[in-house]
Amino acid sequence: MSEPLALDGGRPVRATLLPYGRHAIAEEDVEAVVAALRSGWLTTGPHGPAFERALADVVGARHAVAVSSGTAALHAAAFAAGTGPGSDVIVPALTFAASANAACYLGATPVFADVRPDTLNVDPADVAAKITARTRAIVTVDYGGQPSDLDEIGALARAARLPLIEDASHALGAEYRGRRVGSIADLTTFSFHPVKHVAAGEGGAVTTGDDELARRLRRFRNHGLETEFRERDASGMDYSPMIELGYNYRLTDVQCALALSQLSRLDAGLKRRAEIARRYHAELAGLSGLTLPAVGPHLRHAWHIFPVLLDLDRLRVDRRAILAALRAENVGGAVHYVPVYWHPYYAQRGYRRGLCPRAEHAFERLLTLPLFPAMTEGDVDDVVAAMRKVLGHYAR
Ligand SMILES: *Cc1c(COP(=O)(O)O)cnc(C)c1O
Repeated sequence: MSEPLALDGGRPVRATLLPYGRHAIAEEDVEAVVAALRSGWLTTGPHGPAFERALADVVGARHAVAVSSGTAALHAAAFAAGTGPGSDVIVPALTFAASANAACYLGATPVFADVRPDTLNVDPADVAAKITARTRAIVTVDYGGQPSDLDEIGALARAARLPLIEDASHALGAEYRGRRVGSIADLTTFSFHPVKHVAAGEGGAVTTGDDELARRLRRFRNHGLETEFRERDASGMDYSPMIELGYNYRLTDVQCALALSQLSRLDAGLKRRAEIARRYHAELAGLSGLTLPAVGPHLRHAWHIFPVLLDLDRLRVDRRAILAALRAENVGGAVHYVPVYWHPYYAQRGYRRGLCPRAEHAFERLLTLPLFPAMTEGDVDDVVAAMRKVLGHYAR
C-alpha cells in the first residue's frame, strides 16, 4: 500500500515549501548595488547605459532600451510599433495579461490567437487567419522560455508589413536556429521581475536592430522628451522639447547595477535550468496522467518554467485538486496561464469563452512545477517523488 497523501494526514514529501520559482542574490550583487549607491547617481547615471550595452551584446541586438518593468517594455514596444486607437494587435491567448494590456493602454484592440497544442506557443496558422486591414502589430510570446515559430510568424508579419513584437519575458538567453532571442523580431521585450532570469526587483527592456525604433523607445520612457538628462547636462542645453506623450518608465541606476551583476550569471543559470528540465524529462517520463513539455528542434530553451499537462482522462480529480495535494506535500505549483480573455476585464470588454479552444483546453490541464537555478538535486528528487505520489494516488 502506498503512503497516504499529506492532504489526508500522511507525512509530506518534504518539510518546507518549495516555491515554483525564486530569485537568487549573490554577494557580488550586493556589492554592485552598494557601489551604485555610493556612486553619486540614483537614476540616469552610468549604470543604465552600461547595462543596456551588456544586454544588447548578450542577445546580439544593436540597441537595448531599459525600462521600469516588462509591462512598460511591452507598452513602449507597442507605441514604437505605431499601435493606436482603431487598430488591432494580435496576441496569443495563453500568456500573462500584460502581453495584451499594452495594446489596450494605446487604445488598440487585442485580437487573440490560439496556441499550438504541443508547445503552447501561438499557432502561426491562427495568426495568419486573424490578420485583417485593421491589424497594426503582431505580438508573439515565447511560452515557458521556448522561442515561438519565429520564421513562420516573421514571414507573415513581413508579408503583411506589420511589426513583430516578441514578448521574451520568459526567454532571455534562448536561441532560435542559432540566433539569440532579442536579435530576431523587430522589437523584443524582456522582464527583470524576480522570477525571471535576471532579477532587478522590477525592470524590463526592449531590444531592436532599428535606429528609429530605438529613438522612439528612448523618448517614450522619458516623458516624450527629445533628449535625455545626460545629453543635456553634457551639452548645456537649457530645456528639452517634449515631442510626444511619453511616460516616466526609466529604470533606476541602482536597479541597472543589480541587473548588470545578475546578467553576468545568466549562462550559469540557463545551464542549471536545462539540467533540472532534463532530470524532469528523464524521471517523470511515462508517469500515467502526465504529458511533459514538448521541445521543438533547432532551438535553445531558456526554461523559465516547467509547465506539464495533466491527462484528466487518466485522473480521478481536476487540476485544482492535484495542485492542492502537491502543495500539502510542500511542493509549490502554479498555473501559467488562464486565457487572457477569461479575466473579468476582458470579459466585460465583450470577449467570449470559446474564442481559443486549444488555450482553454490547456489551461484546465496546466501545472507549473518548481524550476529555478538554486534548486538542489534533493529538491528535484522531492518534486519527482511528490508527482509520483500524488498522480499515483489519483490515477484512474
Ligand atoms: C513577467 C511577464 C510580463 C510582465 O513583466 P513585468 O516585469 O512583471 O511587468 C509580461 N509578459 C510575460 C509573458 C511575462 O511572463
